[in-house]
Order: sequence, then structure tokens, then C-alpha cells
Amino acid sequence: MKAYEKNIRKVEPYVPGEQPQRKVIKLNTNENPYPPAPGVTKALQEMNTDRLRLYPDPTASSLVEELAKFYHVNPDQVFVGVGSDDVLSMCFLTFFNSEKPVFFPDITYSFYKVWADLYRIPYECQKLDEKFHLVKEDYFKENGGVIFPNPNAPTGIYEDLDVVEEIVAKNQDVIVIIDEAYVDFAGRSAIELIDKYDNLIVVQTFSKARSMAGMRIGYAISNPILIQYLNDAKYSFNSYTMNQTSLICGVEAVKDKAYFEEGLRKIIETREWAKTELKNLGFQCLDSKSNFIFAMHPDYDAKELFEALKKNDIYVRFWGSERIEQYMRITVGTREEMETLFAFFRKYMNK
Ligand SMILES: *Cc1c(COP(=O)(O)O)cnc(C)c1O
Repeated sequence: MKAYEKNIRKVEPYVPGEQPQRKVIKLNTNENPYPPAPGVTKALQEMNTDRLRLYPDPTASSLVEELAKFYHVNPDQVFVGVGSDDVLSMCFLTFFNSEKPVFFPDITYSFYKVWADLYRIPYECQKLDEKFHLVKEDYFKENGGVIFPNPNAPTGIYEDLDVVEEIVAKNQDVIVIIDEAYVDFAGRSAIELIDKYDNLIVVQTFSKARSMAGMRIGYAISNPILIQYLNDAKYSFNSYTMNQTSLICGVEAVKDKAYFEEGLRKIIETREWAKTELKNLGFQCLDSKSNFIFAMHPDYDAKELFEALKKNDIYVRFWGSERIEQYMRITVGTREEMETLFAFFRKYMNK
């Protein structure tokens, strides 16, 4: 071993879902099957590339202001970043700086553990109950901060806002981050609690409900003081995180509320129909309020199913980790994509 090895910051990285570069039925990373708002396409076609000579606006003010308008908050309550992964990573760095452990669920977005390890933040996982719900009392113990997604990933389970509020209220000495990557498919957002609790940060993304995973836009909404701390950390890291193209396209996406809501309606409708179809095939599905379904079949091994699907160019997500060994996570695609998936299952199961 080289002497310098001991000085290297080593970390076991997050493993993202596969991104095959040929056309497959892609139900593995919760992307939206519909295109972004028409205004995004138009903005790209009409873009003045001369603007690319210059650095982008470090404050990302056009996008910050559009988001502020959309959520009825002040621009100083909005922070934007390169996907919510960037925003969440910045939040870990900025707000989780205690000797006490940060709490998050045992089954959740696997990036949390990676950021905690990267930044040397102690953490403690709290076990979800046997129905994969949060046990709120577990989060009332002393801690260095709290983070969880609502709806949770990969389960899709949404906790009512009063459960979220109780966790925020009982943790006013630390920062509580609610990762709402999927909340638009679910129900009320914790954004409505922002003015009531100064320890709350809500993080959302353009990657799922707004069909723009490729643009990498995420944002946090909180009070001006915490947003200022986030900006201080960001400017100490990289001033120009948001590129010019993302800024322009992001604004166009937020402007078109009608298109956004119609897209949500289609996915929710397909999700509910897909849950029934899966149950008819003998699957047990959690009651997802997201754009994916967490399902297991009592008669078929999840890993074998996952591999058989992949051989047929249908990609879903499988982890095989503790407590979820027999589950697959299936993104809600178009109705046609789901029909193809179900046709495969019927053939595989001789039904
Ligand atoms: C998809 C996802 C994110 C990250 O999305 P970005 O593409 O980085 O915006 C964050 N949290 C959860 C729970 C997610 O599923």
C-alpha cells in the first residue's frame, strides 16, 4: 500500500440504476414517460448559443423567481441545484454537522448513507414497521438531524402531513429535511409548514413529475436563514452550478402549470390501473402514492423475474437487500409500456 493511501478520502459510491443506451422499456429509474412541457422544446430550438460564451447567473435568479411564484414564497426562500441529489448533498454538508447521529429510515433512498459516509456524518437507521411505514416515535430520540423522503423510495408509501409535522415539531433543535421527489404524485407537501417551523427544509426535483431528469434541476424551499446557509456552502464549492440551458428550460417548465397537472393525472391513473393488474397477476403491491410500484410475487423469485425481464428488454429495479429481497420496483410508464410488461408476466406465468 502506498503511504498516501491513508490520506485519501475513500467512499463506497452510490450505484445508480442502469441507463442502457439503446431503446428498451425503461421502468427502472422513475423517469417520466412523457416529454417535458412544449415551452421547453421551443426554448431549446430558439436558444441563442452566443449566451453560452458567458458564465450563467450564479444566483439562478430567473428560475428562483419562477419557483417562488409557483409556490407562493419569497425568492430568498428558494435554493436551486444540479438535480435534487446536488441539493441534498449540499444540505448534508451544511446542516448535518453534529456528533450525534442523523436519523433516516432503514429502507430508503440509498444515497443518504453515501453522503453521510462521504462527509463523515454519524447516522442511525430507524426501522420501518412491517407495513413499511415510518415509526414516528423513533424520530423523537436525541439526534443530529433527520431526513426522509415522502413518499418514501423505494416503497412509494406516503405519510400524512400530520405525521411529518409531528416529526418536525419534536425536532426543533435540529434540521429536518423532507425529500419530496415524488410528492406531486401523492398529496400535500410539507412546503405549507415552512413558515411555521424554522428547522424545516423541503427538497424537490424536476426529474420525475416535470419530465426533466436529463436537465438536472432540483431545489430546496425553506426560510431565508437556512437558504442563506445553503448558498454560503454552495459559493464555497462552485458558484456556477446551474448551467444556462437548464436555467432557461427550467423556467419554461414551471410556467406551464396546466401541462404539469395533466401529466400528473395521466401517471396517477396509469398507476392505479397498474396496481390492479399486478394484483390480478398474483403480485402483492404496496399502496404506492408515487410514480412507481413496489411489488413482490409469492410464487416467483424476484431476482429471477428481474433477470427474465431484462433479457426481454424490460428494465425494472431490484436490490435484493435486507427485508426487500423479494421486491421489485416498477416505474409507471405509459399505458402501452405497462401492457407490454403485463403481457410478459402472463407469458412467463403461463396465464
Ligand atoms: C430521484 C430521487 C432523487 C434525486 O433526483 P435528482 O434527479 O437528483 O433530482 C432524490 N431523492 C429521491 C428519493 C429520489 O427518488
